[in-house]
Amino acid sequence: MGSAFDAVRGFSDRAAERLGLPDGLRATLFVPEREVTVHLEVPMDHGGMEVFEGYRVQFNSARGPYKGGLRFHPEVGLDEVRCFAALMTWKTALMHVPFGGGKGGVAVDPKLLSEAELERLSRTFIRAIGPLIGPMVDVPAPDVNTNPTIMAWMVDEYARMYGYQPAVITGKPVEVGGSLGRDAATGRGAAIALDHLARDRGWRREDTPVSIQGYGNAGSWLAVVLEEMGYPVVAVSDTRGALYSPAGLPATEVLAHKRATGSVVGFVGAETIPGAELVSMEARVLALAALQEAVTDETATDVKPRTILEVANYPVTPEGEVALLDSGATVVPDILSSGGGVAVSYLEWAQNVQGQAWPEERVNTTLAELMGTATRLVLARAEAEGITLREAAYLIGVERVARAEAARGYR
Ligand code: GLU
Repeated sequence: MGSAFDAVRGFSDRAAERLGLPDGLRATLFVPEREVTVHLEVPMDHGGMEVFEGYRVQFNSARGPYKGGLRFHPEVGLDEVRCFAALMTWKTALMHVPFGGGKGGVAVDPKLLSEAELERLSRTFIRAIGPLIGPMVDVPAPDVNTNPTIMAWMVDEYARMYGYQPAVITGKPVEVGGSLGRDAATGRGAAIALDHLARDRGWRREDTPVSIQGYGNAGSWLAVVLEEMGYPVVAVSDTRGALYSPAGLPATEVLAHKRATGSVVGFVGAETIPGAELVSMEARVLALAALQEAVTDETATDVKPRTILEVANYPVTPEGEVALLDSGATVVPDILSSGGGVAVSYLEWAQNVQGQAWPEERVNTTLAELMGTATRLVLARAEAEGITLREAAYLIGVERVARAEAARGYR
């Protein structure tokens, strides 16, 4: 398996080739504009200091300020962050929100930190990248293992240095300028994308069982919204195992169980199965809402559902996708199906810069419009050109960024 960044670069390179972009433009499109590594010295509860490595990659800003989340995970590294920063560039373009792409992270297992240590780490990180971000420059957000509480600490730390500017970070709690509907947005957006696909294919909701790998923010909200829409959620998993119930799982109760016990496993009223078996369970759709590289060429053969909805970033490797496509499956690409989070981040940012607070319904209606437009465009382009949904999504995203670059004078 090659590097994650090379894989994503391959997707965008093929789009550039199909679009016939000139070499000079291609050269600017596929390299990050800035990459920063920072070393964070954090006082630990036991008295000593620990040093953590953090990153921010600002990939492309042709269409607006860099935009993308900050993740805390032991395996975070520069190549991975660069890959996600590139993905954000194509995602914001496809969603048609006025941002470029960026991503950041810290190599840390947050489960090993106390709350006080986590807060100190978050504040130290934002101090370290503070000079590089700003409401019109680079706007971070939550990602894997980060959440509104962490964003609030960061916005507060930023305010101590530069004054209160809520638009510098999205995904904040509502009390400090966050948007209603932002927490649910990635899951809701994925559900909307799936619903458009289902309509296009003539599937009835009640005949479209969905399995969800990952029950974090995106996966659990996806389950809740799908259940509301009338889709049976038949299997869900987390790092400790999976649940299966052909009749459908009660999403909110499963979430309450996870909050109380730390995992979905052991939920009464469903069979607990090994996590690895989730992808092989009978369902029409498999939503991948955990981490990157969940399906590779080695695991693709285990995947039973014939529609794969990418809700995490880069959950299917290129080799994994070839294997899935060869077996007749459809893959709904991450830059489309995970675009709901950044779409509502845009609405949050827009509310902040205008000093507004929208009702949740307005947020959700706008999200549905943005998501619906992007999904319809991707489906139509794939159909018209006889290409995969990922190829179509990249054509649209890369074309928009290239147009912005060209308008700014790059050729
Ligand atoms: N971390 C989310 C993503 O990967 C959201 C990013 C954002 O809102 O800026 O799409």
